[in-house]
Amino acid sequence: MTTASEQNQNPYDICTWRPISECADCSLKIRLKCRFKKEDLLHFMAMFWGFAIPAIIGVIRAGYGWWLLGWFAFAMFFFNVWESCILCSHCPYYAEKGSTLHCIANYGSVKPWKYRPGPMSRAEKAQLWIGFVILTGFPFPFLLLGRQWALAFIALWGLILFFWTLNKYTCSQCVNFSCPLNRVPKEVVDAYLQRNPTMSKAWEASGWQPELPPPHPEVKGK
Ligand code: SF4
Ligand code: SF4
Repeated sequence: MTTASEQNQNPYDICTWRPISECADCSLKIRLKCRFKKEDLLHFMAMFWGFAIPAIIGVIRAGYGWWLLGWFAFAMFFFNVWESCILCSHCPYYAEKGSTLHCIANYGSVKPWKYRPGPMSRAEKAQLWIGFVILTGFPFPFLLLGRQWALAFIALWGLILFFWTLNKYTCSQCVNFSCPLNRVPKEVVDAYLQRNPTMSKAWEASGWQPELPPPHPEVKGK
């Protein structure tokens, strides 16, 4: 039973933010990273720093250290504004009431946008790829100009490992189903949408065709 204060914190009635007792009988808990867990966040951060630390050291050794401020500024803009709009605002984690994000990757980012329960558009997916290329490609010209071959190689290897582990252990279970990296099977997406009428209505309005007809119980508290 959801209390009024819990409902206030979860205005779109997304199951990820309902009391955990409601997950007891849900088989999706072993298929999805649908509740915040510190270990998932730590895993994400450790893999990202495996790329970023050698890149930062290499840029400094190359003599272009001041350019790291540009990288940092772009990362802040990307995580808090751009990616927040095109990717995160569609994510169930973003639906929690409040001004900061509590999720398994961008924990602590601000939330300047309204939650959007429907899927990402094609233009948003294209922008996401452009943003990823700028964010992850930024240090490499400086590493190459400064002849930091070994650190460039280690950073590139860290980047490959980051995306490989992300794809294998996170994208296969992530609840932001319309992200272009997402690999959750359709039947699991349908089952999650069935538990979340706000989302299923928005997804169907965008052309999603569930294999199972959604129950569409009344949407609470919008
Ligand atoms: S899908 Fe929703 S109800 Fe099921 S385990 Fe995940 S958060 Fe809980
Ligand atoms: S889990 Fe991913 S898509 Fe969802 S809010 Fe966090 S960073 Fe954004």
